[in-house]
Amino acid sequence: MAHAVVRTVADAVPGRAVTCVTLRIGVASGAVPEALRFAWDVAITGTALAGSRLDVVRVPLLLACRGCGERSEAADPLHVRCGVCTGREVDVIGGRELEIATVEVADEPVQALGPVDASSRPAGVTA
Ligand SMILES: [Zn+2]
Repeated sequence: MAHAVVRTVADAVPGRAVTCVTLRIGVASGAVPEALRFAWDVAITGTALAGSRLDVVRVPLLLACRGCGERSEAADPLHVRCGVCTGREVDVIGGRELEIATVEVADEPVQALGPVDASSRPAGVTA
């Protein structure tokens, strides 16, 4: 999932060095922020996002109550009740999102890196 985010961001800001990405992750999205952060450093290696920071904003469940018609938030997706009348007849209308909220880029565009020297090998390696 981290790779998909990195690819989406890199495509959105071609040629720019990304410094920070903020994701909005709903508690019912299935995405695990800790896992994303863990995968981030590997996913950004060698991309325009190398060295960037990942920020995560958790989005609570947003409920629409069929009983009283009010909307409320449920921080715990396992305990879904109307926050106004405590009714159980609720529709989940938010909290499943996985969105790229903001992308911060450096002022300077990424410089052309030039051709890759495919003949070079790490020292001590013979092939
Ligand atoms: Zn209600």
